[in-house]
Amino acid sequence: MAAELRDPVRRMLESVLDDVRPLNAGEVASYIPELAIVDPDRLGAALASTHGVVHEAGDCDATFTIQSVSKPFVFALAVDALGLVEVNRHVGLEPSGEPFNAISLEATTGRPLNPMINAGAIVTTSLMRGDTAEEKFALVQAGLGKFAGRDLSVDEDVFSSEASTGDRNRALAYLTRSAGTLGSTADVATTAYFRQCSLTVNARDLAIMAATLATGGVNPVTDERVISEDAARWTMAVMTSCGMYDASGDWLVRVGLPAKSGVGGGIAAVQPGQFGIGTFSPRLDARGNSARGVATLELLSERHGLHMLQHH
Ligand code: GLN
Repeated sequence: MAAELRDPVRRMLESVLDDVRPLNAGEVASYIPELAIVDPDRLGAALASTHGVVHEAGDCDATFTIQSVSKPFVFALAVDALGLVEVNRHVGLEPSGEPFNAISLEATTGRPLNPMINAGAIVTTSLMRGDTAEEKFALVQAGLGKFAGRDLSVDEDVFSSEASTGDRNRALAYLTRSAGTLGSTADVATTAYFRQCSLTVNARDLAIMAATLATGGVNPVTDERVISEDAARWTMAVMTSCGMYDASGDWLVRVGLPAKSGVGGGIAAVQPGQFGIGTFSPRLDARGNSARGVATLELLSERHGLHMLQHH
């Protein structure tokens, strides 16, 4: 309690969590058994400042798979390594207005609409250097570990289930391969992508990862530069337009922070130049975004004037 009194940011997070805790709308992801068995009542939020101070409230040690929250960070690694022009030859930068797993490819070029939906994320992962899934995933794992400031490991049970049920993602990989936009074979891309989705994190990790974008590419806790300032800005821009799938427009009005959600229940949100926020709550709304995570960020934004277009 004494520590809480000395930490007003933590108190602010606690108070918002207290208000959203009673919400029980939504369902945990159930397309694989490992996601269906999580405790649906978990709720945590962490805020990491660009000075490297981390504030935590609720279940910030609970681990879950990163799933689609990995997408902006892998996009960041890809544009950092290859440049925006080259990555953009393979994947577009336009919001799709469609669900995360839509067969969403540009008619003329065959490019996925953007890197925040599955089709685009599989292409982004395929652009990692190396010929094999192991080489590509090693770069993803090392890169995401630098964003988080610690080594991240794969939940092998989730990985096996993702791989054995992932035919829709394989179909997306084959479609992009036939259109000439995939940077590898379909099998290499999807194997690396399924492992990427199965990396385990907690809310604190997501806050630090988001804060690494907020600083313009330097992890504020480890002080290591992970990506260039340009790569960080491009990534936050894509999160702003496409991060919450077909709820991105709504989110931009109501919350006004670049963000990315995942079906594991995580959300990472960025206040550029200020801080990153990570939330965890497993029940998902109809669009596949964490219902209480969305509510937490809406309340935080509203109460504390966090909208990036707020007039100060
Ligand atoms: N593994 C999931 C998939 O590819 C991730 C989707 C998500 O988090 N929205 O379908």
